[in-house]
Amino acid sequence: MGLPRPAASPYSAAMKTPASEPLATDLQAAARALPKVLLHEHLDGGLRVATLLDLLQQRGLSPPVPGADALAAWFNSNAHAGSLEKYLEGFALTVAAMASTAGLRRVAFEAAEDAAADGAVLAEFRIAPLLFEAHGVAGEAAVEALLQGLADSPALPLLQRSGLIVCAMRHLPPSETLRAARLALRYQGLGVIGFDLAGAEKGHPPAEHAQALNLVRDAGLAITLHAGEADAAERVLEAARLGAARIGHGVHLVDAVRDPQRQHLVQEAITRGLHLEVCPTSNVHTGAATSIASHPITELWRAGVSLSYHTDNRLMSCISHSQEAAELLRHTPLTAVDLLAMARQAAEHSFLPAAQRQAALASLAAAPSTPN
Ligand SMILES: [Zn+2]
Repeated sequence: MGLPRPAASPYSAAMKTPASEPLATDLQAAARALPKVLLHEHLDGGLRVATLLDLLQQRGLSPPVPGADALAAWFNSNAHAGSLEKYLEGFALTVAAMASTAGLRRVAFEAAEDAAADGAVLAEFRIAPLLFEAHGVAGEAAVEALLQGLADSPALPLLQRSGLIVCAMRHLPPSETLRAARLALRYQGLGVIGFDLAGAEKGHPPAEHAQALNLVRDAGLAITLHAGEADAAERVLEAARLGAARIGHGVHLVDAVRDPQRQHLVQEAITRGLHLEVCPTSNVHTGAATSIASHPITELWRAGVSLSYHTDNRLMSCISHSQEAAELLRHTPLTAVDLLAMARQAAEHSFLPAAQRQAALASLAAAPSTPN
């Protein structure tokens, strides 16, 4: 890493880097120039503030605070409240705002546009379509609107460079997960490229939803599961044994890296070729990590675990993919070479068809060398 970095500091300090900091601009430019592969971003956690305001207005709903700046500040303060409940409050708002086919289509389209503008050569987006039923939008209509939004994107068109992962909410009964799984399978090959369990992890292990996961796996639809975010390293391997090829977060696998008695778990993750979709900023906001500087991503990477870095929820965490890269470059020993290698691993583990994975890898290989 050619760019000297300041001593590691807590994330809260990183958010207050003085404008006079001479390296900050260079570092942000380097982070921005990095080509990226986006595997883990929730569409209901990533919409633009202006779009959220528009959609709320169209549905006759009031924002918690008036105006785009105040609303952005509201999300920022919730993200730093140290409370998962506060962090999750934003989702009730976004789901209500997005609950029309036009709204869903717009959010998907803009997410692809934003990802491409931020350097993504491939992007996978995710959402739980059944959440919109309570607002009068059927699951099928929600999925079709989202796929249409991605298909309309000239920058990252559906299936050529983007795809949709259908989430089920793990705190709901397994019968609901089964419904979400059947919905996902209805659009398999038409833009739905994977299946996920999202929501509160603690107390809701993936095995509770084994029936739906078996159905998805047997149908050949790829599985990624949130695991090892709020629960133990063992959940990461439980998810893998249930068919997950990738894991959302998986940061608690680091506990096994540090514990000689549990290192077989790390070895199993590596042997299985499991890929972790790590979301550092989100982890700090939800308490899965205490700071970017002390985030387990470096330790896991050095232990040989396949992983990459992602945004999770751009709106709730007030972060972009480039900012996420800049935070890692600034506060951890990871270099631009590491981040590029992570992007390659992400492309290799994408759920998009092989030709698209190869095209993304070619784009990464063609990227100009980054300062390091
Ligand atoms: Zn997530």
